Amino acid sequence: MKHFIQFIKSLFLLELIKGLSVTGRYFFKRKFTLHYPEEHTPLSPRFRGLHALRRYPNGEERCIACKLCEAVCPALAITIESAERDDGTRRTTRYDIDLTKCIFCGYCEESCPVDSIVETHIFEYHGEERGDLYMTKEKLLAVGDKYEAEIAQARAQDARYR
Ligand code: SF4
Ligand code: SF4
Repeated sequence: MKHFIQFIKSLFLLELIKGLSVTGRYFFKRKFTLHYPEEHTPLSPRFRGLHALRRYPNGEERCIACKLCEAVCPALAITIESAERDDGTRRTTRYDIDLTKCIFCGYCEESCPVDSIVETHIFEYHGEERGDLYMTKEKLLAVGDKYEAEIAQARAQDARYR
């Protein structure tokens, strides 16, 4: 009997018709897919993307080399070396983040007392070699300089939620 039912189904292409009816049902429904990269899904204001080091409006680096971010990083992705400057202040001589280790937890950002290291909304980046994902101080400052207006706005908005 079972084989007979299967034979009838095959003969009248019932499975095919069933499949096409599902296709037909969804053909005119609202689409859930987007044409990336032209279209983007909404991004949470809390999204944690590429890191940046910020400066004050006078161009001075915010980072005071306290190393709190390095100490708190659970992935040991941050490496900092520092030295005293001629004016007696301390600044980093090396500030690296290895993005191949980073888990984007945001602890570095949370721990920073001067709002220096931040995570931006940027997620469209890639590396073709391991070294490309090694963010040096120069690269991090360059990201900060480029997106400072957006970062400052996001930080002000974030402060309202706290
Ligand atoms: S986001 Fe987390 S894992 Fe990545 S560098 Fe900061 S503290 Fe480390
Ligand atoms: S980025 Fe912030 S937490 Fe990290 S060393 Fe600089 S001042 Fe300290």
